[in-house]
Amino acid sequence: MKLATEQTETGLSVDLAAVAANTRHFRKVTNGELMAVVKADGFGHGAVNAARTALAHGATRLGVTSLAEALELRAAGLKAPILSWLNPIDAAWDQAVRAGIETAVPSLEHLAALPETAAVHLHLDCGLARDGADPAIWPQLCQAARGRRVVGVMGHMSSADVPADPMNAAQRETFDWGVRVALANGLNPGHRHLAATAATLNDPLSHHTMSRIGAGLFGIDPLNRLHPALTLTTPLISVRTVRKGTGVGYGHSWVAPDTTRLGLIGLGYADGLPRAASNRAQVLVRGERRPLVGRISMDMAVIDLGTAEAGPGEPVTVFGPGGQGEPTIAEWASWAGTIEHEVMTGLGSRPVRRVRFAGPGRQR
Ligand SMILES: *Cc1c(COP(=O)(O)O)cnc(C)c1O
Repeated sequence: MKLATEQTETGLSVDLAAVAANTRHFRKVTNGELMAVVKADGFGHGAVNAARTALAHGATRLGVTSLAEALELRAAGLKAPILSWLNPIDAAWDQAVRAGIETAVPSLEHLAALPETAAVHLHLDCGLARDGADPAIWPQLCQAARGRRVVGVMGHMSSADVPADPMNAAQRETFDWGVRVALANGLNPGHRHLAATAATLNDPLSHHTMSRIGAGLFGIDPLNRLHPALTLTTPLISVRTVRKGTGVGYGHSWVAPDTTRLGLIGLGYADGLPRAASNRAQVLVRGERRPLVGRISMDMAVIDLGTAEAGPGEPVTVFGPGGQGEPTIAEWASWAGTIEHEVMTGLGSRPVRRVRFAGPGRQR
């Protein structure tokens, strides 16, 4: 790639050193194994690169939602154990077994559909009424799994991001009960895993033999102990001066209160800038925060440049780790009334991904 192009095209830079530092942080605060959860293309960071980085810095296993995601990691040459936890009962189980992919079992029907040779993690619903087996059928599921290759028992928590929530203790107890029932049925699940990022950070009693870490690998942490890895930059496409009273964008949801200069960028909600952040979001231009004005459209958005002396080609930082004054994904999420996860995983395919191996994560 040519340097000149790199500076002016829209680019999503992925700082793998941040992912590495985050993985090491989890290594430090846990005694069990770490499963790096790289679903949804590694929360938008690139699943293969994120997986490789996490494995090189303390993770021993990988976790994804679908079998297709797991097979993609295998196809990329990753040899670590992989768990895929959400699949329809007629998924390509034989292919999964051939590729050495472990699967979660959330129901009797799934167990019946899986080949005898499959290595499985029985999944107990500990209180989300979502994925996982209803505790009401758990004893039956454990009984039906006798003689099968049950290598793990897993659960998930609904409210671990609120440490004081009484649900946490209740769900831990449900999980402990589920493990006891599995053991009583003669099963030997070596991997017993309940905690994701929030529980791992907030609740050591939830750790068991392994933590499944997704969000935290990518710097999502309300207490800012972790490092964001993504920086989105884009050039100003054009600049114009408008008079007081000029309406901007669809529906004229913003009208210039004074003469001002407007800058156009070629990023919109198709690229993951949430439309709900219209007239709230900011970007960084020449070291200064500038507001986006008017409605964010599919492919473009407008910046009120005010007095900034920026012309076409000027780089604009949409978000980054925050160290240079640029907005963070956490701020974008709050402008859009959502969570960082949704912003990260909603980034479209148009911004060119560029991987960086060094960065702030390495120095910390
Ligand atoms: C996404 C997911 C995780 C990872 O959760 P984070 O909060 O992102 O760490 C763990 N377990 C299951 C079942 C998940 O779906």
